[in-house]
Amino acid sequence: MLFDTHMHADYSCDAEMTIQEAMEAAKKSGLGMILTEHWDRYYPTNPEAFLFDINEYLNKNAKYRSDSVLLGIEMGFQPSAIEEDRLVAKSHPFDEIVGSMHCYRGLDMYEPATYEGVTKDQAVGYYLEDSIKCLDRKPNFDTYGHIDYICRYWPYEDKNLHYQEHADLWDEVFRRLIGQDRSLEINTRRLRVPGAVETLTELYMRYQELGGKYVTLGSDAHVTKAIGANFDLAVKMARDCGLQIVYYKRRQRHLCEEK
Ligand SMILES: [Zn+2]
Ligand SMILES: [Zn+2]
Repeated sequence: MLFDTHMHADYSCDAEMTIQEAMEAAKKSGLGMILTEHWDRYYPTNPEAFLFDINEYLNKNAKYRSDSVLLGIEMGFQPSAIEEDRLVAKSHPFDEIVGSMHCYRGLDMYEPATYEGVTKDQAVGYYLEDSIKCLDRKPNFDTYGHIDYICRYWPYEDKNLHYQEHADLWDEVFRRLIGQDRSLEINTRRLRVPGAVETLTELYMRYQELGGKYVTLGSDAHVTKAIGANFDLAVKMARDCGLQIVYYKRRQRHLCEEK
């Protein structure tokens, strides 16, 4: 069974579905699901918005846990947050932790102001440099979320990342993920953007060349209709790159066997 390993519901302030609705939608699509509510410590624009009562979240939803409904969290990485979040990761029984960059240099990548007076080349460079800084602090997580998150919000005409433009920095990121035995997410949200599959494939190919083996598939759904979106393209990408599709249960990696 394939798993959608990244989605948001009741405990993410920007989501518009409940866990029951998500479960129904995942079941209809024949997918397992991992709920990964937002946890972003020191979020620059709104420090409280993406934090929640983790014990309540896990206790309240415990009754839904099954082989195909798993409970995780998406931790936003910033160098200043890694140490404290390592303890959060260790002290709760999550199935999976998605580690994600939502900020660079203390700036929110979602905000237009972050890109004022900054070229695309600089923005991607800052983002990757901060990614390396975070990974050097050895965060506790399972899969590295949406490497193309920044593309969703930047104002530049070219909407895609190109491996060659920052080859050395990408290699540094991938080497750290591989060295720390993490998986890499294929975030499916942007896969229908023109050029996205082609340019992302180059990046995942490189991850594989450097020794990467595993990918998770994550829609990052905040609404039910996004669950499992573009998984056909993501499965093909994984195959083309020679990567195995996995999910996590109780922080252990499992292969997704397709039906
Ligand atoms: Zn995210
Ligand atoms: Zn997310």
